[in-house]
Amino acid sequence: MAEELNPFKIAQEQLDEAAEVMKLDKAAHAILREPMQTLTVHIPVKMRDGSVNVFEGFRVHYNNARGPMKGGIRFHPQESIDTVKALAAWMTWKVSLANIPYGGAKGGIICDTKSMNDSELESLSRSYIRAIADFIGPKIDIPAPDVYTTPQIMAWMMDEYSNIVRHNEFGVITGKPLEVWGSEGRGDSTAMGGMFVMREAAKMLGIDLHKAKIAVQGFGNAGKFAYSLSKRLFDAKVVAISDSEGAIYDENGLDMEKLEKAKSETGSVKGYEGGQKMTNEQLLESDVDILIPAAIENQITGSNADKVRAKLVLELANGPVSPEADKILHEKGVLDLPDFLVNSGGVIGSYFEWAQNISGYYWTADEVYQRLDKIITKSFTDVVNLRKEYENKGQKITPRTAAYIIAVGRVASAMKTRGWY
Ligand code: GLU
Repeated sequence: MAEELNPFKIAQEQLDEAAEVMKLDKAAHAILREPMQTLTVHIPVKMRDGSVNVFEGFRVHYNNARGPMKGGIRFHPQESIDTVKALAAWMTWKVSLANIPYGGAKGGIICDTKSMNDSELESLSRSYIRAIADFIGPKIDIPAPDVYTTPQIMAWMMDEYSNIVRHNEFGVITGKPLEVWGSEGRGDSTAMGGMFVMREAAKMLGIDLHKAKIAVQGFGNAGKFAYSLSKRLFDAKVVAISDSEGAIYDENGLDMEKLEKAKSETGSVKGYEGGQKMTNEQLLESDVDILIPAAIENQITGSNADKVRAKLVLELANGPVSPEADKILHEKGVLDLPDFLVNSGGVIGSYFEWAQNISGYYWTADEVYQRLDKIITKSFTDVVNLRKEYENKGQKITPRTAAYIIAVGRVASAMKTRGWY
């Protein structure tokens, strides 16, 4: 039977597995299998040719036992309520594992940003905020960027919300540009957090980052910075990178300037001068030590996991590894570190931005990175230690299940203490 790749079913399956291992209370499990609230909106936008397009959008509140809900907004042609529900669940576990005072949420709009101009995008962003205004707020739910949404889009959204509430409300949304009180370091905090995890994991596995070969799938906000930071922080060699059109491989390492040139002149990293063109599938199976999927969900599945040659997989995207692939990688001895640990730097950076916005006191980039390092390194250590604890009891669990046990445990005990079950 073909593997089930519905992201929300996957999120539920992952939770069920952890619930069994940790012997989670039945009531807590039932509450945590479903989001608390989901909102669907339909947004008319006047397009440049005079026509009106009605876009469908969502915002999902998964759980707020530990604080206001937090999570990005995706603009994606294949968005669906199920992807948004899954991503909202993963946000809940992400903020809990990082131990920051939030619950989880997510939003999305079904749209193709590549075919839209700036004024259509601005109009869509502002209309979406008008449609969900009662559902968000700095003490309720704080959105942020995600796939195909940018700091500029966050600025328009913050402005629209501020118009509605009749005062500046910078803390309603994070990932804003610095001009409107975004945070130093937020732009690359997702990848930076991933780099801190890579440093710790490499230390544990005895991988020399200076000599290691790295492949990055994706050239968006996460992938591009993962590439440049690997080089800057560790002088590591990134031999392969891709975007939605395809991949490029050069065993001597890729050059950023040439990549940028290829992207701007040909629209894809595939247009890179030199190297060897390949498909996204081939990149995942290429001969590297570290693989960083930094694009979208379900890239490594039951059908290609056994072909992965890397020793370490860092899930910088949300949901790139399916449950079947997770098991195969684990059995092969590959260390696959889960998304809600590896990419938590983004929301940790957002937490700092929100804290600065509501206190009105701003930090330097160094302060941001140091605090980020401390939080994410602690999450990594917590996961490693919990796996050891289980191993000592004779039970082998994956890093994902260990991370789930920590995250779900914290949310369940907050719910219990509040009297929800
Ligand atoms: N979209 C990012 C994520 O999936 C960041 C969320 C946020 O900053 O709230 O973690």
